Amino acid sequence: MKFVHCLVCDSASNTPILTNTQDPFVKKIGTTQTSYVTCNDCGFVYQNPTLDTDELEALYSTDYYDNKGQTISEGYRKKKEEYAQHSFDWIKSVFPIDQINENPNILDIGSNTGAFLSLFQKQGWNCHAVEASKNMCEIAKDTYNLEQIHNTLFQTGTFPPEHFSFVSLLHRREHLEYPEKILQDIYSVLKPNGHLYIEVPDIFRPKSALYTSYFAAPHLYTFSQQSLQRLLARNGFKTIHSGSVPRGICILAQKSEPENVTLSDDPIQVAQCISQYKAQHDKDAFVYKYIANSLPAKVLIKLKLPWISQVLAKFREHVRVNKII
Ligand SMILES: [Zn+2]
Repeated sequence: MKFVHCLVCDSASNTPILTNTQDPFVKKIGTTQTSYVTCNDCGFVYQNPTLDTDELEALYSTDYYDNKGQTISEGYRKKKEEYAQHSFDWIKSVFPIDQINENPNILDIGSNTGAFLSLFQKQGWNCHAVEASKNMCEIAKDTYNLEQIHNTLFQTGTFPPEHFSFVSLLHRREHLEYPEKILQDIYSVLKPNGHLYIEVPDIFRPKSALYTSYFAAPHLYTFSQQSLQRLLARNGFKTIHSGSVPRGICILAQKSEPENVTLSDDPIQVAQCISQYKAQHDKDAFVYKYIANSLPAKVLIKLKLPWISQVLAKFREHVRVNKII
């Protein structure tokens, strides 16, 4: 583990905000807990001490999806399609996807099942992606006929400079040891005035399991509209539209000149939000443990009684996906 300064404003002054002793990932890297702090100057929330390069490598040494084998569940695929449609609809509401001339091309970084990219393909865009999981590359090709999915990590030299009209990065930034490096690499492959669509979890609208996902080792940062815009501006991306989708914050930015902007969040407001989420989460964990995951519930689901089993299974999945695993 290593101690770091605030990614957004470089300040070394911070306040501890949450320690997770139930993190399922820490055993793999030989530690016992993960800790998060709030920057006293800009309100940004980040892991500190944070995983160093070796620990991140240990964490991702076996790809999660490759581990699971080739198959993904129908439910998982549909969920990804649903999220992709929300993101696509938002972009369409602020950007003329279907009126771009001169063979528009897009690069999706971390394309997962390919659901998001397939929506651009339907509009006639030339679609490229990089995806670290070999299985996910195959799934994207088989499911959506996406041909140009590269099984690699995104880095300088993978593509020619100023090659793409549009780059998308959905739910990847919060996992990266050096998020500024990827922004610089995106900057170099984008055409002048090209666009970047970015989506990350929202610190003010936390979703997913607190101890096993949201504040767990793979999440190194949690952004807000303010912190994300500030970091983008510093790296040469001007925010032209910002909004929200079910999974978090979304921003459409344009390649421009680096700029220092002083957007910040109130650290007290951030701390209150996290404490409320933790209280709600702990209450829901009780619901899961004693109702959704109880023996009577499991028996009822197994009996496959008309609608009762279905309702219970749905409820269980809802609690599991949205609150705890
Ligand atoms: Zn800061």
